[in-house]
Amino acid sequence: MDDQSRLKTIDDFMLNSEVPLDLDDLMMVLAEAYKVPIALIGVVGEFEETFKAHYGTTLSKVTREHAFCSHVVEERKQVVVSNAQEDPRFMHNPLVTGEPHICFYAGTPIEINDQVIGAVCLIDTVPREIDAKHLEVLERIGALVSQHISLSREHEALKREHGLIEKSPIVLATWRYDTSLRLVYISKNSERVLGVSPQDLLTGTVALSEVLSEEAEGDFTFAMQAHMEGVETHTCRLQIRTPTRTIWVSMISTANFREDGMLYSVQAFLFDTSDQKYVEDKLNKTNQRMRLLLEASELGTWDWNLAADVNQVNKRWCDIVGLEYEYYDSGSRFFRQLIHPADYVKVEKQLNMHLIGKSKVFNTTFRMKHTDGSWVWVESYGKTVETDAQGKPVRIAGIHRDITQRMESELHERKKTQLLQFINKTRASYLQNNDLTMACQSVLAELIDISDSQFAFVGQMKGDGSSSRLFIHAISEIVWDNSSFSQYAEYKKRNLYFSNFDNLFGTSILTGEVTISNAPNSHPNSKGVPHGHPRISRFLGLPIKVKDKVVGMVGLANKFDTYTDEDAEFLQPFLDALAGLFYAVELEEARAVAEEKLRHLAMTDSLTGLYNRRAFLDECISFSKQHCRGCVAIVDIDHFKKVNDTYGHDAGDQALIAVARKIAKHNQAPNVVARLGGEEFAIVMIGDKKEEIHRQLEALRIAVEEGRVTYKTDTMNLSISIGATFIKDTFEADFSALLSLADKALYRAKEQGRNQVVWDE
Ligand code: GH3
Ligand code: MG
Ligand code: MG
Repeated sequence: MDDQSRLKTIDDFMLNSEVPLDLDDLMMVLAEAYKVPIALIGVVGEFEETFKAHYGTTLSKVTREHAFCSHVVEERKQVVVSNAQEDPRFMHNPLVTGEPHICFYAGTPIEINDQVIGAVCLIDTVPREIDAKHLEVLERIGALVSQHISLSREHEALKREHGLIEKSPIVLATWRYDTSLRLVYISKNSERVLGVSPQDLLTGTVALSEVLSEEAEGDFTFAMQAHMEGVETHTCRLQIRTPTRTIWVSMISTANFREDGMLYSVQAFLFDTSDQKYVEDKLNKTNQRMRLLLEASELGTWDWNLAADVNQVNKRWCDIVGLEYEYYDSGSRFFRQLIHPADYVKVEKQLNMHLIGKSKVFNTTFRMKHTDGSWVWVESYGKTVETDAQGKPVRIAGIHRDITQRMESELHERKKTQLLQFINKTRASYLQNNDLTMACQSVLAELIDISDSQFAFVGQMKGDGSSSRLFIHAISEIVWDNSSFSQYAEYKKRNLYFSNFDNLFGTSILTGEVTISNAPNSHPNSKGVPHGHPRISRFLGLPIKVKDKVVGMVGLANKFDTYTDEDAEFLQPFLDALAGLFYAVELEEARAVAEEKLRHLAMTDSLTGLYNRRAFLDECISFSKQHCRGCVAIVDIDHFKKVNDTYGHDAGDQALIAVARKIAKHNQAPNVVARLGGEEFAIVMIGDKKEEIHRQLEALRIAVEEGRVTYKTDTMNLSISIGATFIKDTFEADFSALLSLADKALYRAKEQGRNQVVWDE
């Protein structure tokens, strides 16, 4: 037998204490009826038997070992010992040999929950017999004692429960149904919880309906009606007005039905939920206020249940993107496809960061497509409001704010700054390197970026009239075949020109107007793009003008959105800057040409086109660095005064020109020829040998002598005298000295009769 379960039952029924069972009277009646001196109720515990009721003995317990009742417990049935003194099992038992001198024993089990916990027994000090009938009665008594113990235990439990209820804020009420529902029980705490005493309610002095608010009375009647119609359980919330305050009570009621289905009773728990109601009301009010606030602040709201993939939004959310509230689709695919492709990855990334718990809130800005085709800048702020058992978000809620205006002005400001920066960069690059092409190339990427485009080029007009071409300073690398490759190679060599303007980009050059085409293929001037060229989906041509003259252009292509007049307007400062640079370069070039002309003029004798004296001396310096040997000679026309006098000054000029030509003809570079002044010329002639040089000078002299110079009707005969000096060895010559040596030789030539070549000595 499992003694543990048995002992536990004894414990459960609180029978292991010495508290009596209050059945001593029964024991007395039993002893009288059976004519025995002792009757007991014994509970056999782990070590001893306790007498819970007794008659005829003052003993309150005996050891389990010696207890006769232990045999009843062990055998789980009635035990009768007629004469213990002769029974080998008991003859040495101290209860037999000593007090109370047991001789006769009849015990019957006390059984609770299938466990024999003890016995009801009759004891005598003399031997006795007991018949079956009496044993059966004894058994019944045992059963009754068992029942008594069970019931009193249940009663105790009930009493404790009631006590608990009475101390709790839960009121228990019972209504009995005969013809109507009548309150038959209400826990004592009703006074404290509901503010009405149970007596008043039970006697009908105060009806429950009297303390209920009008609405609550309706709800209460409905609940009772429902039970009468067969509803088993019902929950409702009732407002109760007590003289001092108003409280909210939740009522959970259960109906009990008889076997025939008729309502028997209704039991209900009523508990004060005023606090909860207060919080709820407050929450509702806050929600209401929040809703009003959200509407007033023009915030869109969203509440996305990820598991169900349902995103609920308010009307304002729809307004922001121009949607009719009725046409809103709550699937996440719908709002995802409204996100600007350029912002999509960023949004998904931010969302994911929040979903995996890396960010406390989801907060980002992005563009959404408005139904009118425009893009709306939206700031979204959201947070997980519900998670699953693993802590994974299942619901995220948040708000949308339309920040288009702010973003556009911010972006515009930012772009304006960026534009200024890169205009400055262009200028700085040009100033630093004096290289316009390099300056244009250095800002091409930024130009593409700031204009949201894919391709760009910057060109400058070169040449005049019909031969003018567009020189490409900078262009995006677009190479798709051999010819485009060689074109790009030309560009790299700074040799790429566009000369055909009968096309889309040429329109800006020819008209001087901005060309906007968001569907280039349908533009009247479009000639399409060469085979293999990346598709041009949008084009913006911007002429660069100086004083209404087109001096170049900027071409942009493939903006994500459409090109507008605003784009052209926005980039105008850049075009103006380029115009300024182009103009500056042109001026610079013109200045260089003029300077070159001036320099040439300053060095040239205007009549003959030969070097003048100053240039001659300059040239001689550079000449001396390259050559070693030769001669310096001075040529003077003989009797030139006479020529002037005879034929006139103009004829004299012609004679000078003719002689100058002859000298120049006989002295190609690297020989240097100059007119020193008047009818005097100088020659620096290369040559190693004096004889050879002499021969050449002589040839010149003869050429002049034999030549005829005609002016109008006159024919002039001229001759020249030449004084020469040979330059020996190093040519670090002092030309003035050489000239004066030559001059001396010339003087001698004149002296000796003119028309001859004379060397200095
Ligand atoms: P000689 O044989 O001794 O050299 O006699 P000359 O007459 O050539 O010498 P002179 O120095 O006396 O005269 C030079 C003349 O050359 C004087 C001047 O009128 C003339 N002459 C100088 N420059 C020019 C010029 O540019 N054009 C013309 N037509 N005559 C000039
Ligand atoms: Mg002279
Ligand atoms: Mg002369």
